[in-house]
Amino acid sequence: MGEANIGPKPIDAEEFRKHAHEMVDFIADYYRDIESFPVRSQVSQPGYLKTLLPPAAPEDPEALEEVFADIQSKIIPGVTHWQSPNFFGYYPSNSSTAGLLGEMLSAGLNIVGFSWITSPAATELEIIVLDWLAKLLKLPDEFLFGGNGGGVIQGTASEAVSVVLLAARTRAISENKRKGLSEAEILSKLAVYTSDQTHSCLQKGCAIAGIPLENLVIVPTDSSTNYAVSPAAMRQALEDGVKQGLLPFFLCGTVGTTSSSAVDPLSALGDIAKDFGMWFHVDAAYAGSACICPEFRHHLDGVEKADSFNMNAHKWLLTNFDCSALWVKESSHLVSALSTTPEFLRNKASDLNQVVDYKDWQIPLGRRFRSLKLWFVMRMNGASGLRSYIRNHVRLAKRFEGFVREDPRFQLLVPRTFGLICFRLKPESDDPDNGRTLNSTLLEAVNSSGRMFITHTVLSGVYTLRMAIGGPLTQDKHVDAAWKLIQEEATTLLVKGPSHILANNLRLSPILANNLRLSPILANNRI
Ligand SMILES: *Cc1c(COP(=O)(O)O)cnc(C)c1O
Repeated sequence: MGEANIGPKPIDAEEFRKHAHEMVDFIADYYRDIESFPVRSQVSQPGYLKTLLPPAAPEDPEALEEVFADIQSKIIPGVTHWQSPNFFGYYPSNSSTAGLLGEMLSAGLNIVGFSWITSPAATELEIIVLDWLAKLLKLPDEFLFGGNGGGVIQGTASEAVSVVLLAARTRAISENKRKGLSEAEILSKLAVYTSDQTHSCLQKGCAIAGIPLENLVIVPTDSSTNYAVSPAAMRQALEDGVKQGLLPFFLCGTVGTTSSSAVDPLSALGDIAKDFGMWFHVDAAYAGSACICPEFRHHLDGVEKADSFNMNAHKWLLTNFDCSALWVKESSHLVSALSTTPEFLRNKASDLNQVVDYKDWQIPLGRRFRSLKLWFVMRMNGASGLRSYIRNHVRLAKRFEGFVREDPRFQLLVPRTFGLICFRLKPESDDPDNGRTLNSTLLEAVNSSGRMFITHTVLSGVYTLRMAIGGPLTQDKHVDAAWKLIQEEATTLLVKGPSHILANNLRLSPILANNLRLSPILANNRI
């Protein structure tokens, strides 16, 4: 008999130290050289990676160097560089030194903090930092711990809305049962109300909560209110629904809609929700971060009438993905909907109701120690640092808005409120598709250059370009260069027509081709 084969050492402190230093160098070089990559991945062929990697895992261990080589040659080309200062698509997804360090420590400790007992610090730090953030946002005290409310970190706004939808549904079922309705009848009639600008995550939440799609009532918006929902239209839709026998139980308002950053009238919606006995949820996934600044806080006026409020610290508050903060006024509704306690999880602190067990405030059981990165971010920036971070982006957005306004070939499509500018190149009045081809060609021209990245939406049928400013590395020069490129491509497009643009879209930018500061590990990927 030989010695037992005990396999590789999964973690050896000295080996980890060496490799982690290499990884830190790799990531630091990545951030240093980030402008040398085409912002949008140049991969256009789905399945590109399958042709580059073996069909099965290696039988024998490989060295980190071999993995790095593949990252450089096969993975990085398929990456769109969300952290590039020239990334202006969707909404931002912030990274920062503080956020990354917190993320690293969370991975290092690798605890699974579903109950207080599994690591008291994880639950208690989350309670403290969510109270801190609630205070920065000037949320009403009912959302803080100490009474019946409190906050919890979810992965995403989608999970946040699903969780509160489930809580509201459980509450609505028991209320309606008390009125003598059968569960089957209730379930077929429960209805959710919102506007056509609400994020699609609410529809997914309805699917998860078993709300029939026809009971998701979507109130249309238009440019007359800059795409905020009209309280009168909402009230009318609810009255109609009740007449048809629906049981409205959930109203969702948005501060900073995904298409155009519209702000729903929270106070009026809160009153309506109260009149109809509904749960009122406020989704401020993107714009919530701005509301730490006193000059933006008025956009949250009326949040005191909400049952729940959500914002993504990972969008615009320097906290690495994922960190979606959700506050509720009555946490017992979450617990009623989501608590399960099998024997193997029972413990004294939980049994005595002395602690928060976050497993009962979310869909999964397991959860990461995400409060660390939010804590790092708040401590290493301070409230003043976070406010000036937001203000700088808003200043840059105003700057870009001014550029668009000064060029008569362009138009702004909605007033700017935060860091998003919605605009387009004006079509001729007889343009057959009202500027869609013109602007989608312009979008493709700027994005395929690799020098910047923007995305689009459609507002009242109008194809709209979205320039979202909020990247941690974005400075004046990036915004100025982006506008210059958009103008140049627009000129080419207007003078020479769309076919010229498409033929010309592979040329290199001289700025990028000259970048000499590439690390060896990244050098092969420069454009
Ligand atoms: C980004 C966004 C979402 C979805 O965010 P996830 O966290 O990825 O689920 C939802 N609502 C609004 C208003 C958003 O801006």
